[in-house]
Parts: sequence; structure tokens; C-alpha cells
Amino acid sequence: MSQVAQVRVRYAPSPTGLQHIGGVRTALFNYLFARRSGGRFILRVEDTDRARSEDHYIQDIYQSLAWLGIEPDEGPAEHGFSGGDYGPYIQSRRVELYRKYTQQLLDEGKAYYCFCSTERMEQLRKKQEEEKSALQGYDRHCRSLPPEEARREAERRYAAGVEGQGCTVRFAIPLEGSATFHDLLLGDIEWANGDINPDPVILKADRFPTYHLANVIDDHLMNITHVLRAQEWLSSGPLHIQLYRAFGWEAPQFCHLPMVMGRDPATDKLSKLSKRHGATSLLEFRKGGYLREALINYIALLGWAFDESRETFTLAELEGCFDLAKLSRSPATFDYRKLEWFNGRYIRQYSVPQLRKELENLWQEHSPEMHGAVSVENLTERLDWILPLLQERLKSLREIPALAAYFFVAPVYEEPELALPKKHTAAQAAALLRKSRSVLEQLHSRDWVWETFDELLAVKQDWEASFRAAAADEGVKMGSLMQPLRYAITGSNTSPPLIESMIVLERLAGGEELLGRLDSLAMCLETGAEDL
Ligand code: GLU
Ligand code: ZN
Repeated sequence: MSQVAQVRVRYAPSPTGLQHIGGVRTALFNYLFARRSGGRFILRVEDTDRARSEDHYIQDIYQSLAWLGIEPDEGPAEHGFSGGDYGPYIQSRRVELYRKYTQQLLDEGKAYYCFCSTERMEQLRKKQEEEKSALQGYDRHCRSLPPEEARREAERRYAAGVEGQGCTVRFAIPLEGSATFHDLLLGDIEWANGDINPDPVILKADRFPTYHLANVIDDHLMNITHVLRAQEWLSSGPLHIQLYRAFGWEAPQFCHLPMVMGRDPATDKLSKLSKRHGATSLLEFRKGGYLREALINYIALLGWAFDESRETFTLAELEGCFDLAKLSRSPATFDYRKLEWFNGRYIRQYSVPQLRKELENLWQEHSPEMHGAVSVENLTERLDWILPLLQERLKSLREIPALAAYFFVAPVYEEPELALPKKHTAAQAAALLRKSRSVLEQLHSRDWVWETFDELLAVKQDWEASFRAAAADEGVKMGSLMQPLRYAITGSNTSPPLIESMIVLERLAGGEELLGRLDSLAMCLETGAEDL
């Protein structure tokens, strides 16, 4: 009876940049596939490009996964992950292995040393360009060197330590035939060997492997069953298949995920998502006040859909329903507005204490952009009262300092026309402000006792009743009375709930502050009246 192998998938980022949307999507889909099929999700750091790999990018990989809650079942033990049985999970710690397997290919005549200098390669490239030659890339110059002689020359160079100008090892792509593989999403892929870039380097002059070699060896040694990766890697598939064949190994199943595109705001054209479309790194979104739930939900929908109608999913829900059969073949377009919409949704689902905790963590790591005289300390102390007022209208946590600024500094009245109710002149609006002033004076003369937000809402009932009575008195709608008042207090005509805001402001800054704002807007309306 044949036993079905346990699913083992991996996320194999190269630490050469910050984790971006595409990478996170690959990580997420691998993770979900593992969870759904009772398999294992492996994190492998592919840091064989010595010049471009950086430690802080490795940290960014770990932090990104941790923040999202995508936990590897196996990963670099030296960095605190539960090690599996297939370590090390950092490629730079596995170079001896890659050298050993390269030697095997050399011994079997499936790879060969190349001594071509960079100058020669450059000349070759120029010549091919000038002659518009059908043959592009390496001309297999060293493939015919007598192996024994080449070996001695390579040893001599290695011994002399002239690594930079030393030699590389190239994989001898079979001259005839083709590579075929079945992609779980794209179906059968066939690629003539003649169309594979001639004889790619597998061991570089620094004796570090290239991506192709290390990736294939590790996927094999780590028993990877499925390779889910971005479609950019599809064209490497045929080469990888040839490498598996050369080693006599069975290749894993491939599934190349749909591209993630961005829309150019100026031309409306689609191209691979990149910086010119906006933020692309997870870190930027974090700093920008996006919640993990929103990112996970939205990223899950990049090239995948559960059905036509359902679009909100938590990570746990995705773990239960993710299915490769529901991947889309067409490219996905990253929609910043949609992500923002999800973010607003999840912000509203957070409780105030949760939101507060999230903010404090965020501000500890990335100090927020403050407005006017507001300080993080001030804001943090008042969050329990302020957050419930802002929560309804937030699209991202980053908006909080600006939206909350009116609790700490008096607004500047740059657009006094926003204070005018429909069909009202500036003078009439100023009169309404004076009416509101008298209401406030009366309210201030009483002692309002409240601590919690619920108690505040009870106080609000009384305040609101007073303003309603005043509006009736003046023969105007409540909305008309509120409009200049709202602008006076908040400097905006689309502010968070006004009466609650005034109650909080009275507590924070005293009643005089409220009256002062009404007076200065009234003055502004009276003096600038002709212009309005
Ligand atoms: N290290 C490659 C990357 O950075 C991995 C590609 C693959 O999954 O094979 O994307
Ligand atoms: Zn050569």
C-alpha cells in the first residue's frame, strides 16, 4: 500500500530587501496550504548572494512573519525557531553540501569548470549584440575542455585563493530534448532544452552556489513536496527540472502563483507591483497603521477566492478553507483602496483596549508623525476617551494623531466657509455660535461626573438636550446649529461625534478653551464676512 507523503512546503526568501506584498502572499499561501493539509511549513533563508544579503533583512523576515502570526513549523534554530530535522535552514550554513553535490555533477560530467573572465563574457555579449546573433548568453566555450586538465586548473586557482578571477562551475544542459513538468495551476509546461539559457553557473567564483543549485538541493534534502512560489520563477522551472534529473531525484510538485500587478495612477496601465505604485513592503504598511488582520485578509485574495460572494476571512478561517483549486490563473491587481477598506473594517472590530495596545506597540516601534503641540504621551494618556470617538471613521491607525489634534491644540480656521450652514450668511453663523456659547456657559456651570466612556454617553444625553432646545429657540435645525460649532471646536466639518468631543475637551482643557474657540471663529466670521 502506498503511503501519501506528508505535505511539506517552504517559504524561501532571499534577505536582499524588505518583505513585500508578493513575498508575504507566497508565505501566506504556503502556510495555509500546510495548515489545511496537515502538513509542515518550513522557513528557509536563501542568503547565498553574499553581496546583497543583509542581516537586517533576515530580521525583517522574522518580524514580518511573527507580526502576521504566520508561524513556521521548522526554521533556523540558531535564531530561535523550532528546528526540524532538516537543518540548518540558512543556506550560508550549508555551503559544504552544495560543494559536495557540485563535485558529484562534475565527476559525472554533468557540470564543468568555466574559466572565462568577465572581460571575455563582456566581449561575447557585445559581439552577440552586434551580430544580432540567435545565440544569446554563454557560448559553452569551456564545456569542451578536457575534464582532467580543467580540474587541475581549478585546484590551482582555488589554492592560490584568486577567487574573484577564479573559476565557476556551470551546469551542462543536455543539448537535445526538453523538460516537462506539471504545474498545479498552469498545467503541463514543456520547454525545449535549447531554450534554456545555455549552461547556467551553479557554483560562483566565491564557491557559493547560485539560487538554482541551492534551491533544488534543499528542496530535495528537506523533503519538500510542493513548491508554491511566484510566477516570476516559472522560467526557472525547466532548469530546475534538469537539475533534479541530473541528480536522479524526483522533483516536487510546482504551483506558480499568479502575478501581483499594480495600476499606474497616471496611465492606468498595469505592471508588476512596484514602488512606483505606492507602498509595497510590509513594514511600510505596518508603520502606516494597517492591522495584521486586514493585510492577511486582503493578501489572501490576491489570486485566490473562496467563492463569488465571501470576502472576509480571519487567518483561522483561511486555515480551514484555503484550497489550491481555487487559485486564479489571471494576475491579481493590488488595490490600495480595498486594503484600506478592510483595514477600517477590522479597526472597528477591535475593542478599545485592543486598539490601544496595538497603537502603543506601534508607537513604541515607530514614532508617529505628530501634529502641532500633540505629544505621544498626551495622546496615549487620553486614548481611552478619544479612541471610541475616532474609531468609527478610521481607515488606518496613522490618522489618529491628526484626527485627535483638536483635543490638544485649537484649530486654525483656514476655510471659514465650512462653518456656514446652507443658506446662512457669515453673520447668521456667528449668531448661532453666540447661541451655542450661552448653552455651553450654562453647561459648564454644572458638575459633570463621568469616568468611563459609557458614563460620558450618559452626560451626552443632557448636553444634547440643551443644544436641541437652543436650536428650537432659534428656529433652526439641530444640524444648522451644530455646523459652525463643529467647525469652531474641531476645525473640520466632518469631525468625530461633536458633543462627546466637547465633553472630553472640557475635561482635558477646561470650559474656557471651548468658549475661546467659539469666540475666535465668531470673530473670524464677522471680520471676514464680506468675502464669504
Ligand atoms: N529565494 C527565492 C526568492 O527569493 C526563492 C524562490 C523559490 O521559491 O524557489 O524568491
Ligand atoms: Zn568558460
